Amino acid sequence: MIKRLAVLAFFVLAAGSAQAKTLHVVASFTILGDLVRQIGGEHVVVTTLVGPEGDAHVYEPTPNDVRTMAAADLVVINGLHMEGWIERLIKASSTKAPVVVASKGIKTRAMVEDRKTVTDPHGWQDVANGITYGANIADGLVAADPEDGDYFRARTESYLAALADLDRWVRAQIALIPAEKRRVITSHDAFGYFGRAYGVTFLAPQGISTEAEAKPAELGKLIRQVRQTHVKAIFLENMSDPRLVEELARESGAVVGGTLYVDALSAENGPAASYIQMFQHNVPMLVEAMLKN
Ligand SMILES: [Zn+2]
Repeated sequence: MIKRLAVLAFFVLAAGSAQAKTLHVVASFTILGDLVRQIGGEHVVVTTLVGPEGDAHVYEPTPNDVRTMAAADLVVINGLHMEGWIERLIKASSTKAPVVVASKGIKTRAMVEDRKTVTDPHGWQDVANGITYGANIADGLVAADPEDGDYFRARTESYLAALADLDRWVRAQIALIPAEKRRVITSHDAFGYFGRAYGVTFLAPQGISTEAEAKPAELGKLIRQVRQTHVKAIFLENMSDPRLVEELARESGAVVGGTLYVDALSAENGPAASYIQMFQHNVPMLVEAMLKN
């Protein structure tokens, strides 16, 4: 009872101050959740539907997600069909919250998969796109809470400057590697934007969704390719089944170089708890392995 009164008193006090607004933001997965926290600061409470180490391609929403979505002030998604389940969840929750599509405005890349042209959804793996994501999220926060607009704009400016520094750092790291050695094998095809931006070729037995099965013929082709080209840089992914890459390494004689953070961040105490830390973890590991190619 005392606790309830204290909560009530808090709300009465909060209502008296125009600056005390807190937006309840729902982000579909952890990378977007981090961007919202970096820009929203103390004026946001963020819930991510797919948690740390989770796979947003194949997620199945829970009844609790429906309630979370219904209570949201703002929803942030990647778009580009990354979250195939999100439209149904938004409908089921009858949320009135505006939806920010973080990838809006990026130059997308298309690829052919099973004879269909599909759009690669992994835009965040190019830091320049991350800056666009941040700007879109900032616009959504300012529109939802204009009174805190100056606060959001100031945080956006410093965070996007940090991302511009990160982008320069990634370029400098990749520049250390001779062009003919810039080849990497990952489990699913999530580094297309990274490859296009920073000049690295990524090969993957699985398509751009972890939902797609690797075909035995494709896997055989990749094993031969690894043997012929002596690619040593072969990686597991934090949110994917490791068996495919382990088999590939075994069959081709390559050694697994570690685990890349791809579609999800680590937990708070892990090595990639933020979007920036994800690159700080992945890039040196990629560089070290590619130098052995
Ligand atoms: Zn993916």
